[in-house]
Amino acid sequence: MARPLDALPKAHLHLHFTGSMRHSTLIDLAREQGLHLPDALEQDWPPRLRATDERGWFRFQRLYDIARSVLSRPEHVYRLLRETAEDEAAEGSRWLEIQVDPSGYAHRFGGLSATMELVLDAVDRAAEHAGVGIAVVVAANRTRHPLDANTLARLAAQYAGRGVVGFGLSNDERRGQARDFERAFRIARRAGLLAVPHGGELLGPRSVAQCVEDLGADRLGHGVRAAEDERLMELLARREICCEVCPSSNVGLGVAERPADVPVRRLFEAGVPIALGADDPLLFGSRLARQYELAREAYGFTDAEVAELARQSVRASAAPEETRKELLKEIDDWLAAPE
Ligand SMILES: [Zn+2]
Repeated sequence: MARPLDALPKAHLHLHFTGSMRHSTLIDLAREQGLHLPDALEQDWPPRLRATDERGWFRFQRLYDIARSVLSRPEHVYRLLRETAEDEAAEGSRWLEIQVDPSGYAHRFGGLSATMELVLDAVDRAAEHAGVGIAVVVAANRTRHPLDANTLARLAAQYAGRGVVGFGLSNDERRGQARDFERAFRIARRAGLLAVPHGGELLGPRSVAQCVEDLGADRLGHGVRAAEDERLMELLARREICCEVCPSSNVGLGVAERPADVPVRRLFEAGVPIALGADDPLLFGSRLARQYELAREAYGFTDAEVAELARQSVRASAAPEETRKELLKEIDDWLAAPE
């Protein structure tokens, strides 16, 4: 019997708010409000996507928008976060950093600040309920104007120390240049927030390097394509810039053909810190524990190496020092227990 992966304490650093919704809750909320869901979100779930071309990405975003539309009332936000926290707890995730772009909900919940207040209150209650530490990453949208990102960075900065720990940049990496968002990231970093842009998912090493150089990335959303460049991996390893690697997402979006094609082993061997993540369980059909299973099954990680992955996730997190110490100690205990 192998050591149970759901008992391994870990930090989950790459999970999106809407994408964390349980599939059953999506169905439930859609029925309750008389909203029609496309087959890909109902009987043909999880959808098969190929986002490596623009049309495929557009289809992914459209499904995402439909999923977002079921969250129309504050109680839905409370439910989503409560259930997500329960699911995290069940999988041994003890610290979660959840990404939200409040502008996607602002028109429903009374503006950007009101949306942030709502999300942060729901986060606090969910964390308390499930016994998981939860913090928020405010994510700007790369396909929108950089000025919108500045607005979100200022908003995030206002809530630094009050539940927000990072600032991200998501959506289609092929749109716009990282440096267009330099100012937003400067605002966020000055407020003490971690810079955690998506990069190295749809584009290669150059895009990763831009996230590091232009945006001062502390971590990279995905970053897997850094594995194509030895020197870049050396840089990430030296500066301890963590890649939030999400194997099921890479396969779900066609970034990798099979889980085995995601270069987790290569990044690990090069000393690049890794935090495995689920990205959007609602669209890719699996949560965090599955990613750790893949570490074993697809990448041949031993328990000692899996424990090291968990440690890396904790070290790359914004969890308070006390929480980090506690988790690192419990990871050692997990490994010390007999198989
Ligand atoms: Zn993501």
